[in-house]
Amino acid sequence: MAAEILSAEGFSVTIYERKASAGRKFLMAGRGGLNLTHSEPLDDFIKKYGTKSEIPGSVIQEFPPQELRNWCESLGQKTFIGSSGRIFPESFKASPLLRAWISRLEKQGVRFMFGYDWQGWEEDAIVFKNSGAPVCLKPDATLLALGGASWPRLGTDGSWVEIFEKENIGIAPLQPANCGFFVEWSDLFRRRFAGQPLKSVAVSFGAVKIQGEVMISSNGIEGGAVYALSSLLREEITVNNTAYLVLDLKPDLDLSEIKKRLEKPRRGASFSNYLRKYLNLSSVAVNILMENPEWQNPEHYDPEKLAHSIKHFPLTLLAPFPLERAISTAGGVLFESVDQNFMLLKKPGVFVAGEMLDWEAPTGGYLLQADFATAVRAARGIQQWLSGRAV
Ligand SMILES: Cc1cc2nc3c(=O)[nH]c(=O)nc-3n(C[C@H](O)[C@H](O)[C@H](O)COP(=O)(O)OP(=O)(O)OC[C@H]3O[C@@H](n4cnc5c(N)ncnc54)[C@H](O)[C@@H]3O)c2cc1C
Repeated sequence: MAAEILSAEGFSVTIYERKASAGRKFLMAGRGGLNLTHSEPLDDFIKKYGTKSEIPGSVIQEFPPQELRNWCESLGQKTFIGSSGRIFPESFKASPLLRAWISRLEKQGVRFMFGYDWQGWEEDAIVFKNSGAPVCLKPDATLLALGGASWPRLGTDGSWVEIFEKENIGIAPLQPANCGFFVEWSDLFRRRFAGQPLKSVAVSFGAVKIQGEVMISSNGIEGGAVYALSSLLREEITVNNTAYLVLDLKPDLDLSEIKKRLEKPRRGASFSNYLRKYLNLSSVAVNILMENPEWQNPEHYDPEKLAHSIKHFPLTLLAPFPLERAISTAGGVLFESVDQNFMLLKKPGVFVAGEMLDWEAPTGGYLLQADFATAVRAARGIQQWLSGRAV
């Protein structure tokens, strides 16, 4: 995005990428439909960046969701608002957008250099490794947009952290965001249900309750509803070693209605058939319940207690899944280490943008929106920096 703005202004821009092609993580984001941004009112949108909302907030006001939609449409990809308010390209993919984008950049004179692995600085030069050989460059300005450290096979392994630390540039430790969590399932449950969704449930932590879908994995849980709580859960685990997530397996019915239905006679039906018949609980939901020894083949049960368990099933989360598996990265270059245009205070002329910066947000389009918006701000900073030098 920065390359597009700067090349349109007549600057000569070269993109160096360690992989053999551009935008691999962007393409991966497209596998889930490419949720570009969100249609909610801007004030609510900005709140999703949490405690650090002040800085991304002003940045997002300068390049708001509508601008991102306009940009996408200018590349021939119409957008639409999904039922949840999320915004997607009509193609539901990243590849046509990326192709059109690269073609525009090339027309504007942007050069792509692949297989260039950035190694750091040597005095005032930036150093790459290309086919094993060092390459030193002295550009007038540099933008580092090296991403976080999730999905390292796509090129983002966070190797820049060590380089920044050597230069004493302040960084908040990289941590998984929008991630799953380890749960100790029984062998039986793991074998039967790994890979299956738990649909139409709600998860809550403290006062925050999110309705949606939870994916069961062989060693834990993931999925949209869990991701939405992941920063709170991660912080709780950091402080207390575990976090208790409360599952509501039947969010559309209240406790008293569930209790009333559970008072109906079982007439020889198995526990799971009974729960399926009267509460329409899925097999995975019934079996989660049976992860609690109290509900394994109960002959007699107290409807009130069972209803409570269905509405408030506690799951012990042991740790977040590793950063490599997360959708995004929390932590990164501290805002104290950069000026208002994201130029590194310790490295005049070097800017940073995207997930490298220390912000986090839930899924829903907030990630790409902030990646793009920080790049727009950095591009304007580079423009100012270069014109200041020209004077
Ligand atoms: C599975 C998945 C689905 C996602 N879906 C969505 C979604 O629907 N909506 C959304 O908003 N967000 C989504 N995201 C997040 C989104 O993709 C990221 O926030 C975004 O790609 C980050 O952009 P970036 O420019 O900061 O870094 P990246 O896109 O990660 O790009 C960084 C680039 O830098 C290169 N690089 C790194 N180190 C070096 C080096 N030393 N030398 C040279 N090159 C280097 C990498 O190879 C990479 O190409 C998803 C992420 C994942 C993993």
